[in-house]
Amino acid sequence: MTDTIFGKITRGEIPTEFIYEDDRCVVIRDIHPQAPTHVLIIPRKPIPRLVDADDGDSALLGHLMLVAGRVAEQLGVGDGFRLVVNNGEASGQTVFHLHLHVLAGRTLVEGGLANGIG
Ligand code: AMP
Repeated sequence: MTDTIFGKITRGEIPTEFIYEDDRCVVIRDIHPQAPTHVLIIPRKPIPRLVDADDGDSALLGHLMLVAGRVAEQLGVGDGFRLVVNNGEASGQTVFHLHLHVLAGRTLVEGGLANGIG
């Protein structure tokens, strides 16, 4: 499996501030934020795309969702944020290590983040 920058980040090989971490995932700020709050929930397990996950990843995927909500609350945006998962080049995925984008802080409707990112 090809390594990615997120593999290096989750393993601590590239110094990056973790705004949250546990045994299954890390959370970092996106280097090119698309909204005032833009963080990435990255599993330590290097699943390339969402479609590459299998039944054995169910608990991990659920955990990432729960962490997204908790981190959003921690960042003060628990009442209004969007989760985005790009899957595959055609969606705009650029890093082939599954991750959830948490976006918040500007209008999420009427042309704001309605079209997601990528
Ligand atoms: P995606 O297009 O869904 O694959 O999203 C990849 C995201 O990773 C983009 O929003 C990038 O800005 C972000 N990104 C790439 N490299 C880094 C990095 N070293 N630290 C933080 N975010 C990064």
